[in-house]
Amino acid sequence: MALASSSLTTVSGFDPESIRGDFPILQTRLHASGDNPGVPLVYLDNAATTQRPRQVIQSLVDVYEKHYANVHRGIHWLSDQSTDLYEEAREKVRTFINAREREEVIFTHGTTESINCVARSWGDANVRAGDEVLLSEMEHHANLVPWYQLAERTGCKVRHLPITDDGRLVMDALPQVLSERTRLVGITAVSNVLGTINPLPEIIRQAHAAGAKVLVDAAQSVPHMATDVQSLDCDFLAFSGHKMLGPSGVGILYGKRALLEEMPPFLGGGSMIRRVRLDGFEPADLPAKFEAGTPPIVPAIGLGAAIDYINQIGLDAIHAHELLLTRRAHDVLEALDAGVRFLGPKPEEKAGIVSFTLKNVHAHDVAQLLDRAGVAVRAGHHCTMPLHKRLSCTSSSRASFYFYNTLGEVETFGRALGDALRIFKRK
Ligand code: PMP
Repeated sequence: MALASSSLTTVSGFDPESIRGDFPILQTRLHASGDNPGVPLVYLDNAATTQRPRQVIQSLVDVYEKHYANVHRGIHWLSDQSTDLYEEAREKVRTFINAREREEVIFTHGTTESINCVARSWGDANVRAGDEVLLSEMEHHANLVPWYQLAERTGCKVRHLPITDDGRLVMDALPQVLSERTRLVGITAVSNVLGTINPLPEIIRQAHAAGAKVLVDAAQSVPHMATDVQSLDCDFLAFSGHKMLGPSGVGILYGKRALLEEMPPFLGGGSMIRRVRLDGFEPADLPAKFEAGTPPIVPAIGLGAAIDYINQIGLDAIHAHELLLTRRAHDVLEALDAGVRFLGPKPEEKAGIVSFTLKNVHAHDVAQLLDRAGVAVRAGHHCTMPLHKRLSCTSSSRASFYFYNTLGEVETFGRALGDALRIFKRK
């Protein structure tokens, strides 16, 4: 089958080939031995974690070589240096998501911790037996389990907004599942399996009209499309550095200042206190109140460097290029004529995530055979067991893109999959 529907082949002014030179790991060849030069790495597992450019790696080396000390403790020069860099990184995050104030940007260790912080701290203080928390059927386990734990502690009820067979929220059902009992709506901006881009403004509008707060799981959206927490008007937003060129071990919790001020601290220890006595403590002001212990100093500074890099490329170009890759991936998969079933909507309605099943071939076998050809994809339930159950499958294969992927890599992926399927047919 001709790949005619992907007529556009480039985004003007955007050249992934030259960008790739910044990413040392993308020069890797796999399975080399003796005279065999091996195959180039085709990294299509970006929804799990992205790779880092030299500029981000160098920022980490620079801190360790020239500026490293613990932050906010210093009465010495080096500590002032690392504190300045750490706070500069906070300011970069603030600008990137357009938060009103730096106190609304909390460094955590990742999306999972950010959501747990809200479920524990805000949830325990505000949710009672008989109250409801509304999630969706497409949430990652990180935006399910903390709320189930809250339900165990408080007796509240967790409800789910259903999805359609092609992986979009059933928005018509929202008024029925929202009520005056709903205390919080927890919703992913982009599904890590379906790629679906959810209509956040409408969800937030309806949730607020019902008196509920809204937490957005933005792990899969912040790295790929512009985020403006003020115009969204979400109450909380969570994302991870490692999915946007940054180091692992750092994430962000954005919260509206008034809410964060009222919330008790999540973790207790050093740095989050104003005063400790033998009979108690007073918490520190924001953002320190939610940054107990030594924070992820160097990862946070690296995240700042990652934001600089992404800004230089531009989120509009990133989104447009990923759409090209997604369209092409749909085309090459359909051309295989192998009973492909896409999990999720059409390319135009989603981010750069293509999950699929093939008739009579297990997702793990797909991933293993692709790996032989150097192609890294993810197989399994992708931390969304309820979503896979809803779609009547136990696992799927997932190719997920970032701006450094090329159309040539998508072709390699298609060819490798075709070869793998021929192996299966012979068996
Ligand atoms: N939510 C979504 C939508 C995700 O894709 C992920 C990562 N797979 C998470 C939450 C959890 O992120 P982390 O593991 O960085 O805490």
